Amino acid sequence: MRFSSLGEVQAHLKAGGQMVDVVDAFLERIQATSHLNIFLETFDAEVRTQAEAQDKLRDEQKAKLPLLGLVLAIKDNIAYKGHIMSAGSRMLENFRSVYTATALQRLMDAGALVIGRVNCDEFAMGSSNEKSYYGPVKNPLDPERVPGGSSGGSAAAVAAGLCVAALGTDTGGSIRQPAAFCGVVGMKPTYGRVSRYGLLAYGSSFDQIGPLSRNVEDAARILQVMAGNDPQDSSSLDVNWIEPKSLSRPLKLVVLKEAMEFQGMNPKVKAAFESRLAHWKSQGHTVEVRSFPLLNSLVPTYYVLSTAEASSNLGRYDGIHYGFRSPDAHDLESTYRLSRSQGFGAEVKRRIMTGTFVLSSTYFDAYYLQAQRVRRKIREATDSLLQGADALVLPTSPNLPFVFGENDADPVAMYMEDAFTVQANLAGNPAISLPIAIEGSPLFASVQLMSDRGSDEELLEIARRLA
Ligand code: GLN
Repeated sequence: MRFSSLGEVQAHLKAGGQMVDVVDAFLERIQATSHLNIFLETFDAEVRTQAEAQDKLRDEQKAKLPLLGLVLAIKDNIAYKGHIMSAGSRMLENFRSVYTATALQRLMDAGALVIGRVNCDEFAMGSSNEKSYYGPVKNPLDPERVPGGSSGGSAAAVAAGLCVAALGTDTGGSIRQPAAFCGVVGMKPTYGRVSRYGLLAYGSSFDQIGPLSRNVEDAARILQVMAGNDPQDSSSLDVNWIEPKSLSRPLKLVVLKEAMEFQGMNPKVKAAFESRLAHWKSQGHTVEVRSFPLLNSLVPTYYVLSTAEASSNLGRYDGIHYGFRSPDAHDLESTYRLSRSQGFGAEVKRRIMTGTFVLSSTYFDAYYLQAQRVRRKIREATDSLLQGADALVLPTSPNLPFVFGENDADPVAMYMEDAFTVQANLAGNPAISLPIAIEGSPLFASVQLMSDRGSDEELLEIARRLA
């Protein structure tokens, strides 16, 4: 038995199949692919019990569960009561959540079952999943290569057929880029569309939970249930999900001149992207080129602001309240110093130091304040780029999945992975990544669609048409 979409599982159930068999089939595959290091933990006994309970429900009870059949993997930074949430870090190796994230609770209330938690870059900082304390995830399409990050485990789990869908989080591209590297669909909703309650904070003005799935349809069904106001998150938007009208008119798409000319874009990515644009034009859609001179400011702005927020958010890991405490600590000062220096990995420390630097009184105006101003300009420019258009179209990543260690010596080269994804986080817009097959290769290139803030429903409809 092999299932790759919610529709397939639901068809199996309709034909009299059992949920417990679905869960068992996934658990078996997870076991068989353990060398890929995707799952940090599976909840075998618990998920089997839940599946058996679902199998016993009466038909009218089942009909009230729109996501019955959704076997879900969750990223290791989403709270699930009673379960470990380690954020890929030694710091939280044994930390158990005391409540469940709102987004996850909504999915479970609709019938979703959590099969396990998946690996990620430490504290969601990274683009390759090489930065997890629990070891790298391997890309199921080519195990010599990275799966992308930071939600690399989520993307790899979907690509390897180990769950129906997965939850990831996206602060600067961490859902979309691994989705692109693993050949699956990944969406970052509008900032505020999905509650952040129970999402371990990295950059609070950027972070969003979103789905990774095999197709756009499943992403839409998941997001529809997860989205919505939550009094526990003051930044969550009070807007309802409105089923969009189906679109049959030709779409107006915008590409960025500076992205097309981007130094360092892999020629295969460029060729796949351009041939996809040509295909859409041949279907009657229009593709207009507009200029976005701020493109090269995106990554620096993101790294000033996200590290500033991270340095503040990660201040709570002090070795005292919870999390790792150094066994060598002997007084207050050494508890802080040793717990933090032994509990965090190198990339996390680099970000905390950068963030502390840009917030320091001497440099605050030059870096943090200036980056806030640029962020506003980026937001305004993004709004005008989208004026009169349905969607902005970019490759998700300028690269194909790279081999392990390729960017080790140069953190900035790794940061350039985010060149096309951080715009949506800086401006707050929704964006979705769709895979593009490359002939003769197991790897995929990708295309990213971005639309106006709050138009997540329409974006999914556009993606459905263009996928
Ligand atoms: N690659 C980006 C970073 O390292 C994005 C991370 C994310 O979205 N969580 O910050």
